[in-house]
Amino acid sequence: MDLSYILNELGEERGNYFNAIAPPIIQSSNFTFPSVDAMRNDMHYEYEKHFYTRGNNPTVEILRKKLAALEGAEDALVVSSGSTAMSTAILANVQQGDHIVSVSKPYSWTYRLMTDWLPRFGVTTTFVDGTDPANFENAIQPNTRIIYLESPNSFTFELQDLAAVAAIAKARKEAGQEIVTMIDNSYSTPLYQQPIALGIDLSLHSASKYIGGHSDLIAGVICGTNAMMKKIFHAEYMTFGGIISPQNAWLMIRGLRTLELRLERSSQSALQVLAFLENHPKVKHVYFPFSKLHPQYELAKRQMKACGGLLTIALNTGQIDRVDAFADALQRFLLGVSWGGHESLVFPASVSFSRTTDTPNANPDNFNKVRLYIGLEDPAVLIADLAQALEMV
Ligand SMILES: *Cc1c(COP(=O)(O)O)cnc(C)c1O
Repeated sequence: MDLSYILNELGEERGNYFNAIAPPIIQSSNFTFPSVDAMRNDMHYEYEKHFYTRGNNPTVEILRKKLAALEGAEDALVVSSGSTAMSTAILANVQQGDHIVSVSKPYSWTYRLMTDWLPRFGVTTTFVDGTDPANFENAIQPNTRIIYLESPNSFTFELQDLAAVAAIAKARKEAGQEIVTMIDNSYSTPLYQQPIALGIDLSLHSASKYIGGHSDLIAGVICGTNAMMKKIFHAEYMTFGGIISPQNAWLMIRGLRTLELRLERSSQSALQVLAFLENHPKVKHVYFPFSKLHPQYELAKRQMKACGGLLTIALNTGQIDRVDAFADALQRFLLGVSWGGHESLVFPASVSFSRTTDTPNANPDNFNKVRLYIGLEDPAVLIADLAQALEMV
């Protein structure tokens, strides 16, 4: 199935709605039946039939089909946020007393789930440096049930070798230990990295980033086998009810129409910005998987089709107020978290440091990093803006 078909046609049964090009927003909480028999029949197939919108809604269903096809997965579930996607996938695959091996520094709220929340139920996590697959292997215990990945891993974009980690889990499975591998694939989107093809079981997304793409919604995606999606649907998905509204599903379908174009623009512009920053005297280091200076450049080329628009720079300064001044001086990058929308963003690591109490003793490497998201603006405008702001350093 080609990408253009997925983005423009798949799942859209236009004959059912006046041959309208844009699908309808089925803003209905429930669905009715012509007879008791019909109701009885559908009740047991809520996963694919239309019964109640906390289960399967027709607008959301179109989106599920597209997202699954993009990932090369059998099915997908769309949930209320990226955080819901990560926590649901994890909770669905652990029991009391189980163990997780996770890449060090996963997304902040995933980390909190693993360190603060899961221990309440006897589930423990070992965090490992993910740059060497052997570290995952060595951390596996008899009760390990999940290997959790996030590649590339923000702020500095270390990678994990997805095929190698999948092979480690597969070997354990063959020896009788069920280990589910899962990855937070938000950075790359299914267009630039296809973890399932590399042997990973579940691919998870914050769709609030590129997939939504317009900084106007929060959503998450879980992709995997039919069996796994059904298992999650009939437990965590229906019980917690962390669903997406039909309205937001419709916005995501609209966002998908231009996903390929938006990514291409963001990615190409990021390469231009990278070329400017790599040679700039005020920039100490640039973190970007497709930079030749990235220690895992070869792996990046092997398992990713391209990078999106996220990159981090370390500024050549030991003074936190210069980092703040740089970010404050940017006119065309808005100060904010997140990424994946039309607008360029700047997120300085210095926000978590106090200018008055932390500076004297702090190691500059802790606060000199600034994450940039390159949006859809003219790259020449963005480079000119960076050039003037770097004067502050
Ligand atoms: C934003 C983000 C999340 C959380 O997603 P929300 O949609 O904000 O809940 C998880 N992982 C990564 C890598 C993210 O960037």
